[in-house]
Amino acid sequence: MYLKAIELENFKSFARKHRIELKPGFTAISGPNGSGKSNIGDAILFVLGPKSSKVIRANKLVDLIYDGGKTGRKADYCRVSLIFDNSDRVLPIDENEVKLTRYIKRTNNENGYNSYFYINDEPARLQDFESLLMHAKIDADGYNFVKQGDVTRIVEMTPVERRQILEEIAGISDFDREIEKAENKKKSVEEDMEKIKVLLEELENRLKVLEKDREVALRYRELEDRLKELKAGIAYSKMMNSRQQMDSYRRQVEKYEEKIKHLEEEVNERKGELENVK
Ligand code: ATP
Ligand code: MG
Repeated sequence: MYLKAIELENFKSFARKHRIELKPGFTAISGPNGSGKSNIGDAILFVLGPKSSKVIRANKLVDLIYDGGKTGRKADYCRVSLIFDNSDRVLPIDENEVKLTRYIKRTNNENGYNSYFYINDEPARLQDFESLLMHAKIDADGYNFVKQGDVTRIVEMTPVERRQILEEIAGISDFDREIEKAENKKKSVEEDMEKIKVLLEELENRLKVLEKDREVALRYRELEDRLKELKAGIAYSKMMNSRQQMDSYRRQVEKYEEKIKHLEEEVNERKGELENVK
């Protein structure tokens, strides 16, 4: 698998469409200063999607769109395609050629552009590029690509900085980052656990208070029921007393009525006797 050709359209100093064939034996791009040699490297990285646009010497991605130079008109999009020879099937796509295209278009949204990705002209996402290129160990932020000034920078580095680069290439830094990530995760989990412990203690205390409240409430209900029973008992016995009293009054009334009846009879008798005496 190798990079076979680059197609550029309105990318940086490359106005309109250009196709650069990287034929076998191709080793260098030469040209006067400022003629666009490094822009070709930027075009390759642009498609690979580095994390920062600084890597492709742009503050914003829209700076990559052909700005019209001194005389021409500003373009409103740019497109770069990398055409890889895939006859050895290093990339898991059953085609002899794999074309990765990135296209950006100026818009009025907050970024100022929209970004589109295509694999063999089919819409895709940057993650699809990344997972595809992983098979060829190509990474926009890795060291597959040595840019202008990189060699001087590496020569002038301290041994520690140089070792960091080697670790990065060997993949040790990936492990270090994984370890750091895992340690951070562990720390945050521990912090969460500490918070949960405090919360649990609070809840346990609250539970104790609630248990006491429940006991008091149960006792209250028990006493209330007892009070109701006692009140009902008192009311019942009062009613019984009243009924007895009423019975005894009734009996007395009956007795008096009897007596009245006798007395009336006696009066009538006496009245008869008196009549006879007259
Ligand atoms: P050197 O030999 O000095 O390294 P170079 O050949 O690598 O030069 P580049 O850095 O690739 O040159 O190209 C720089 C040129 O690209 C500059 O003339 C700059 O104006 C032009 N350029 C950069 N961005 C754009 C853009 N968006 N539109 C038009 N031209 C651009
Ligand atoms: Mg250059």
